[in-house]
Amino acid sequence: MKDSLKLFNSLGTKKETFISNEKGKVSMYVCGPTVYDLLHVGNFRGPIFFNFLRNWLEYLGYKVNYIYNYTDIDDKIINKSKLENKTTKEISEKYIKEFEKDYKSLKINLPSFSPKCTEHIDDIISFIEELIDKRFAYTSKGSVFFSIEKHRDYGKLSGKNTEDLLAGHRVKVNDDKKNPLDFVLWKPSSEDDPGWDSPWGIGRPGWHIECSAMSKKLLGSKIDIHGGGVDLLFPHHENEIAQSESRSSTNFANFWVHNNLINFDNQKMSKSLGNIIKGRDFINDYNSEIFKFLILSVHYRSILNFNKKLINQTIINLIKIYSALSLAENLSNSKIEVKESKEYKNEFESYSKKASGFINNDLNTPGFFSVVFDMVRKFNLEAVNKKPSGELKYFSICLLDFFNMYGGFLGLFQEPKKDFILDLNLLILKNKNIDVADIEDAIEKRDNARIQKDYTLSDKIRDKLNTEGIDLKDNPDGTTEWSVRV
Ligand SMILES: [Zn+2]
Repeated sequence: MKDSLKLFNSLGTKKETFISNEKGKVSMYVCGPTVYDLLHVGNFRGPIFFNFLRNWLEYLGYKVNYIYNYTDIDDKIINKSKLENKTTKEISEKYIKEFEKDYKSLKINLPSFSPKCTEHIDDIISFIEELIDKRFAYTSKGSVFFSIEKHRDYGKLSGKNTEDLLAGHRVKVNDDKKNPLDFVLWKPSSEDDPGWDSPWGIGRPGWHIECSAMSKKLLGSKIDIHGGGVDLLFPHHENEIAQSESRSSTNFANFWVHNNLINFDNQKMSKSLGNIIKGRDFINDYNSEIFKFLILSVHYRSILNFNKKLINQTIINLIKIYSALSLAENLSNSKIEVKESKEYKNEFESYSKKASGFINNDLNTPGFFSVVFDMVRKFNLEAVNKKPSGELKYFSICLLDFFNMYGGFLGLFQEPKKDFILDLNLLILKNKNIDVADIEDAIEKRDNARIQKDYTLSDKIRDKLNTEGIDLKDNPDGTTEWSVRV
């Protein structure tokens, strides 16, 4: 019997034991990107985290229907289309393709389905009609607004109350609204903007309504998990609750799960600060494995502070893990006959229990990785201090199995080990501004010095490389191997 998952619910702000509405099935809707540009590193935290959550739920025995939408009509898309003299469809289609390329390079599982807002206009219109019929929404000069006063629970997710929100509205806003807090469900399109025919004239949906309508259409009125970045909690998700629960008179989502944001060197990433890093650029400069490991090494509800130090630490940690895995692979491929060891077996059972315990406790990935490093340390200690044996081979197999299994959930540890270690070493050198050709030159000079028995020079070269973090290993046949110290 697998232990149950405790998940932090933003609705009620506490951890709760996860139970699905329908036995063995989970419906999960996560707000996806607005497609008008390449996404920055922060935008990928959601896809990487929710992939892990979905995979873990599947491991716990649920069949998960995971919807991740594209907002393909919005002011930003319209502005870009005007700037580039293209249609909004051309812009959104282009950036959906670009996003899907980036997603593929992450090497994680796809969502079950990714609907587009513009393909659900009919569903959105009928959703709004129901809200009007039930008097939760009203029309005004070609627009339709949701009436905040009609939804008594407004603020239950964000903890905001309407009086405080109203006090914040000093400027007189939109005369068409009955209450300044009412939000738009449908707005008229001007002549050169894209629009769809509706009972209220040519127009387009407001942003919040698309997720309520698509979620209802694809998953039903009551879902298990609604997710997204914490920046969406208010007003987007609060407004989704207002719309969906007013329409259906039932709870919309049992669990609201929010991943936190990514800062860069303790500053918010923003265009004006010029510190935005595109996900694609990071993956090209480094690697998708480094990207995923870095994101998952911080708990999803904590702010992740992206900086050079964290990137370097991530690379070093990955070298440690992959080096142990490479050693384990060598041992498991050796001709020694495997021998089950009770001691190692018990130890692995205890590691596994701890690891899944951390994950079941609100997907505590930092805790999980602490178990991983304990295990790697233990393995290295045994592998270095003991002669290869059947028991050690058994340990190696257990280690590889563990990483295969948990790596599958996280979307990690599936790279070809030796090649990947080499890539990581080269990245460390790049970050230290050390050229591989310079190292090889220095080694050649040192080899020549040794041939000429100039040991003062050969020692000097070795010491200089050592201070740069390059270790040399002289082989009996005269060749020298080098490695980066981590
Ligand atoms: Zn949404």
